Amino acid sequence: MALERGADYIEQDLQMTADGVLVVMHDETVDRTSGGSCTGAVGSMTLAELKRCDVGSWFNEAHPDRARPEYVGLQTPTLQEVFERYGAEVRYYIETKSPEASPGMEEKLLALIDSFGLHEAAASRWQVVIQSFSAASLQKMHALAPDIPLVLLGASGDEAFLESASRYAQGIGLDHGSVTGRLVEAAHAHDLVVHPYTADRPDDMRRLIATGADGIFTNYPGRLRLLLEGNG
Ligand code: CA
Repeated sequence: MALERGADYIEQDLQMTADGVLVVMHDETVDRTSGGSCTGAVGSMTLAELKRCDVGSWFNEAHPDRARPEYVGLQTPTLQEVFERYGAEVRYYIETKSPEASPGMEEKLLALIDSFGLHEAAASRWQVVIQSFSAASLQKMHALAPDIPLVLLGASGDEAFLESASRYAQGIGLDHGSVTGRLVEAAHAHDLVVHPYTADRPDDMRRLIATGADGIFTNYPGRLRLLLEGNG
């Protein structure tokens, strides 16, 4: 749906199962999105256990206006399944979540990127971007594959944050309320792109476009696409 609405990238949050499989899941536990069908930390469950959780029905109950029958019984996808489905045709913006609790996550992520032939495209045209709030996780990625573009996330960024990020990352992702034109200029002076998160209201999107930000995280790519086209 995001791609149909003109998103340049689709975002995946990564967690790792107890048996070491990378899955696309925002939360550290399954509780919020399994509607009572499961409980517990993703990292304490095997992939087989996780696959038994219904992670679609809760959405229909929480958002009856957007409910669809095909969401009932949906399973948590692995990152491999996402790569298999979308291939090299789309751009991926992948976040390592709880990396300290998931040792080996970066190596597994890099191996998957390599095995799907995405490494060269990531390096040459940012087909894949890796983001994290964990500087340690990004520094590890940088050591493993210095040519993969990295974005350091933070609530806000001062000069020390920019200076530190610029040693291993190509961009920063900041809470959109903290992003100003001056900050974007300072980041650009460090050769860092700026991707504010998460702007869903057109007013916020308009303001961020005016700051010169390089990209915007949003749950409503169609709204942003319309604004960008309206702005030429
Ligand atoms: Ca995320």
